[in-house]
Amino acid sequence: MARITCYDGVGCIGGNKILLEDDWAKLFFDFGKNFGTEGAFYEDFLQPKTCTGFYELAQLGLLPPIHDLYRRDMVTELCDPWSGVATTKIGDVGGVLVSHAHVDHIGALHFLDPDIPIYASAMTGVISRALQDTTPSGIPCEYCYYVGRVDDGGLAKPNYRTHPYIGRKYHLTETPEIAGFGEFWMNCPDSRALEAFDCEPKQTCAGLNVKSFPVDHSVYGATAWAVETSAGWVVYSGDLRLHGKFGHLTRRFAEEAAKLNPAALIIEGTRIANDSSPTEANVLDACVAAAVETRALVVADFGPRNVERLISFLEVARASKRRLAIMPKDAYLLEAMRKAGGPQEIPPLDNGSIAIYCEHQGKSGGGKWREEILDQYPHLRVTPQDVAIDQRDFICCFSFFDINELAYIKPAPGSSYIYSSCEAFNEEMQMSADKLRHWIDFFGLRLYGRLDDTDGGDDPFHVSGHASRSDLMEIVRTIRPKMLIPVHTTHPEVYTEQVGDICDVRLPEKGVGVEL
Ligand SMILES: [Zn+2]
Ligand SMILES: [Zn+2]
Repeated sequence: MARITCYDGVGCIGGNKILLEDDWAKLFFDFGKNFGTEGAFYEDFLQPKTCTGFYELAQLGLLPPIHDLYRRDMVTELCDPWSGVATTKIGDVGGVLVSHAHVDHIGALHFLDPDIPIYASAMTGVISRALQDTTPSGIPCEYCYYVGRVDDGGLAKPNYRTHPYIGRKYHLTETPEIAGFGEFWMNCPDSRALEAFDCEPKQTCAGLNVKSFPVDHSVYGATAWAVETSAGWVVYSGDLRLHGKFGHLTRRFAEEAAKLNPAALIIEGTRIANDSSPTEANVLDACVAAAVETRALVVADFGPRNVERLISFLEVARASKRRLAIMPKDAYLLEAMRKAGGPQEIPPLDNGSIAIYCEHQGKSGGGKWREEILDQYPHLRVTPQDVAIDQRDFICCFSFFDINELAYIKPAPGSSYIYSSCEAFNEEMQMSADKLRHWIDFFGLRLYGRLDDTDGGDDPFHVSGHASRSDLMEIVRTIRPKMLIPVHTTHPEVYTEQVGDICDVRLPEKGVGVEL
């Protein structure tokens, strides 16, 4: 008997944790962080204590109540995460099939039992690695490697000399042939060494055949999955779109998935209530026009992992005779992504249009990864003073969390801020539009793009990573599954209205299994 249980990502956007069972075989599609439900309890200076592992998340119902799914080194004697909570046991889980490297899909991997292998495209693996490498310590992000905590009156990391990081078991969909991949994957830029880090491809998970399909989304490496169960193939879309530059990948996925004659399709519906899709080319035109008419500094604000947008801004930089100044962590990410290969090409840092913006750090600031990337490209470095002197020569790629750089650059009159945010459901969504507007107003920047979505309609400076209603319907009508389970949407019922005639649409309930 095959069964699908959505533990999260139900009636909301992100946080997908979807269990697929077929008799004894068990696997998950994604294991993400739900920014919405976590944000209902927490904010910047009110975060779950890390010294009690996942105790708070378990107590607040923010993780699936499955007793034996998580890291045993994160359970303390004093604070049993599951005390007073009704839990089940699951036994062996064959793997997590990860769709892409947005935190709402990978963010809760940190807590997962490291014996559970992770399946991902090479690009998703590499982006997850770079994300973990560059995240400040103390933030739960052990997606790729971890160190067992010791209980010393509270959980803590043991001595770095005696306890190396252990790589989680990864099965990448392919091993990149690119020089430098192995070295990147097997080493981590930290004083603590990294030990044992597999990435062998594997065609089965929990004994079931699996297939992966590259799709287009606002982060490279996005993958849809199919798993062959005793009830037929179960297909999981992850996040996807047709209107992006690589929309043909999504179209090919739909055609290939149709050939499997799937018993079920689990599909996202983020923008199912919206039916228009401007393209990246439209965004490029709008941004070029804005940069060309700006007489001083241009600040560009977009999701750092949206390399497609970064490539657009490289074009904007060339068209407006500027250099694109990116933060060291984004330079590190780009350098890492070049080692993953795959269908999408990553521009080299050394292409004549990129500079690396070296923000003031203080002596202990940064990290080894930062030193590494700056040492590798010393000629690309620019300081805040360099940018301040030649403002007309730069487009600075800042996110909300870099906005205090404006105080060091002091934008000259005639400067502008292009808000071109791409993915609302990651860390960046927590930014406060009010604070950002305050900074923009204080320095007298001209704002292009919309900080908040009050007036609806298309924003010429942004194109979504998610398919519109008509594109989603095209995908479903191509695949023609027997059953459809909508996730990652606040309007699942639209699927019933639109395609209820061709498939059995089941609106999932959180934690309640649907039998195939
Ligand atoms: Zn998502
Ligand atoms: Zn996404």
